Amino acid sequence: MKSKDTKIFIANLIKEYRFFNETFFDNELPERIDFGIVRIRHRADGITHESPLKISLSWNMVPGSQLFKETVLHEMVHIDQIINNIEIGHGDFFQQCAVIYLEAGYNINS
Ligand SMILES: [Zn+2]
Repeated sequence: MKSKDTKIFIANLIKEYRFFNETFFDNELPERIDFGIVRIRHRADGITHESPLKISLSWNMVPGSQLFKETVLHEMVHIDQIINNIEIGHGDFFQQCAVIYLEAGYNINS
C-alpha cells in the first residue's frame, strides 16, 4: 500500500463525514473525530470506536463508491448513538434513520 493511497482514502472519509454531518445531522456530530483503515478483512466493512471517537473502514472499499458512502453514514449513526447515550446497535433508532436515508438514496443496511 502506498502512503499516498492511504491519504486519498482518509481524505475521502473526511469528505463524506463532513458532507453527511451537514446534510443529515445539522452538523451536530463532532467536527473532528479520528479516522482509520482496517487492513485485515473483517466481517463488517466499517467499525466505530467509542473512546476516542473513531470511524475505520475496510481497505477493500473503494473511496467515493456508493458502498463507501453508505458505510460512512452507517457508522455515523453509531457516532450519533454514542454522543446521545443511545444504545449502539441496529434497533429502532437505527432503523428510523435508515428509512430517512434510504429515501435520500443511501442504504445503510447493506
Ligand atoms: Zn452498525
